[in-house]
Amino acid sequence: ETITERLRKTVELFGDRDALIVPYQNYKATYLEFWQQIEEVAKGLLAFGVEKGDRVGIWSPNRLEWVIVQFATARIGAILVNINPAYKSAELKFALRQSEISLLIMSEGFRKTSYFEIIQEVRQSCIHLKQIVILDRDWQALIEAGKRISTAQIEEIETHLQFDDPINIQYTSGTTGFPKGATLTHHNILNNGYFIGERLHYNETDRVCIPVPFYHCFGMVLGNLACITHGSAMVIPGEAFDAEAVLQTVQNEKCTSLYGVPLMFIAELEHPNFEKYDLSSLRTGIMAGASCPEKAMLEVQEKMNMKEVAICYGMTETSPVSTQTFVNDALSKRVGTVGRVHPHQEIKIVDPETGKIVARGEGGEFCTRGYSVMLKYWNNDEATKSVIDAAGWMHTGDLASMDEEGYVTITGRIKDMIIRGGENISPFEIEEFFHSHERISEVYVIGMPDYKYGEVVMAWVKFKEGKSATEEELRDYCKGQIATYKIPKYFKFTNEFPTTVTGKIRKIEMREISSRELE
Ligand code: ATP
Ligand code: MG
Repeated sequence: ETITERLRKTVELFGDRDALIVPYQNYKATYLEFWQQIEEVAKGLLAFGVEKGDRVGIWSPNRLEWVIVQFATARIGAILVNINPAYKSAELKFALRQSEISLLIMSEGFRKTSYFEIIQEVRQSCIHLKQIVILDRDWQALIEAGKRISTAQIEEIETHLQFDDPINIQYTSGTTGFPKGATLTHHNILNNGYFIGERLHYNETDRVCIPVPFYHCFGMVLGNLACITHGSAMVIPGEAFDAEAVLQTVQNEKCTSLYGVPLMFIAELEHPNFEKYDLSSLRTGIMAGASCPEKAMLEVQEKMNMKEVAICYGMTETSPVSTQTFVNDALSKRVGTVGRVHPHQEIKIVDPETGKIVARGEGGEFCTRGYSVMLKYWNNDEATKSVIDAAGWMHTGDLASMDEEGYVTITGRIKDMIIRGGENISPFEIEEFFHSHERISEVYVIGMPDYKYGEVVMAWVKFKEGKSATEEELRDYCKGQIATYKIPKYFKFTNEFPTTVTGKIRKIEMREISSRELE
C-alpha cells in the first residue's frame, strides 16, 4: 500500500471528520477538504515540473502547508526532503547539495532568522536547485499553475507508484555529528505510523496535539501518519514549541493525545499558568526522543490526565519506532522502560565487539530488523554498510538491555561511552546517580580528553532554583557511593545546555564548549 492508497481509504471512511487543525493559522479542514487541497498542490508540483523520484525540499517550521506538501509529494512519488528549520547557511547548503534538491519550498524564516539572506548566499552553489516556492508569497501561484493538470493525469502517475519506492529523506538529528540522510519508503513509515496508532488505540474521535517538529520523524510519522491511518485529527499548536500555547491548544481543541520530548513535558508541567488550563480531554500521548525520566512520566499521568501515555524508542533510520510501552503494561514497565518490540520487527541486544547476543539483563548494542529499517543513507553507501549488516540488521549505536519479559531499557549511546584509562564508564549511570541529589535539577555527563587517562569524566550541573553546592560537596557526595574512577574530575555549573531543535542534548557541543573553557 502507498501512502496515498491508505489516505484515500481514510477519506472514504471519515471524509467529514476533522483532519487538520492549525489554530494559529486560523485553519481547519475535514478529511475531504484536506484530500482536495493535497490534490491541488500535487497538481501544482506537477505543473512546476516535479517528477517521480525528484527531491522536493521543505524548509519550514510547523505549518499547515508542511502537512499538505507531505501528502502531495507522496501522491506523485516525489521524494520529500525534510530540512531542519533551525539550519543556517552551511547546513542548508549541505542538505540541498547532498540530496540534490530541485524544488525547495520554504517559509520566510524561523525564530529571528530570515531565510532570504541564507538562500541568496547558498543558491549559486546548488546546481540542482531549479525552483523556490516561498510560502505566503508563491503558494497561490503554485495552486493556480496546477489548474491545468487534470485529476486523470495524477491518477495515471499513481499507477506507477510502488509501496517500496523511497518517499522521504530525513536527516538525523545530528546529536552525534553531521546529519545523515535516512532514505525511507512508503512501506517503512506508513506501517510505523499505523502500528503506533494501534498501540495508542486511535480512532476517528481522537485529536492529537503535535508540538514536535514535522521535519523530524516524531512529528511526521508518530504524528501525521499515525493520524491519517486512523482517521484522527492532527492539531498543530504553533510554529515552534511554546509550553503555554500547547496547554491552551489542548484545552481549546479538546485534544485526546499529546506528544513531546521529555523537556517539553517538563516545561508544560512547570509553567506558572499550568493550573489555569483544563486538560481533562487528554487520554494518551507519547514521550520519546531522549531518555524519559520516571518522575516526568508519573506527573504526566497524574497532573495531565494522560493515563495511557506511552514511551517510544527508535531512530530516524528505523522509521522510527522499534519499541513502545503499552497501556496494559505494569506501571513500573510503563515508566521505567521503553517497552517491548513493535509487531513485524525483530530486536536483539549484542556485544558490540563479538556480535553475539548477550544474556537477558546484560548490556549491549540494540539491533533491529524488519520492514522498518530504512532503504539506505542517501548517496552514502559506505555509511549505509557501516550500520546495516548483510543479514539486514540495523546496528543502532544505542546501548540497551532486555529483561526476561522482553522489556528494553536504553542506557546510552556507544559514542558517548567514556573510556578512562581502559575503564568503560556509562555517562547515563553517573547522571542517574546525581539525580538523587536533592539540590540538582539537571545533569549531563561527558568525557573530556586527558593526556594521562585518555578521557576523564566531566559533569554539567544545573541546580534547582535558589540552590547550589560546591565541587567539593559534590565529590564528597559521590564518595563511597560510586567507584572513584567515575567521580567527575571537572564540573561546570550552568543553567543552559546546548540542544538540537528537537530538544536533545548535544554532548558533542558540550565537549566543544568545555574544551575551549578548560584550555
Ligand atoms: P544523529 O544520529 O545525527 O547523531 P540522533 O541519533 O539524535 O542524531 P534521531 O534519529 O532523531 O537522531 O534520534 C534517535 C536517537 O534518540 C536514538 O538512537 C536514541 O539514542 C535516542 N532515543 C530515542 N528515543 C529514546 C528513548 N525513549 N529513550 C532514550 N533514548 C532515546
Ligand atoms: Mg542517530
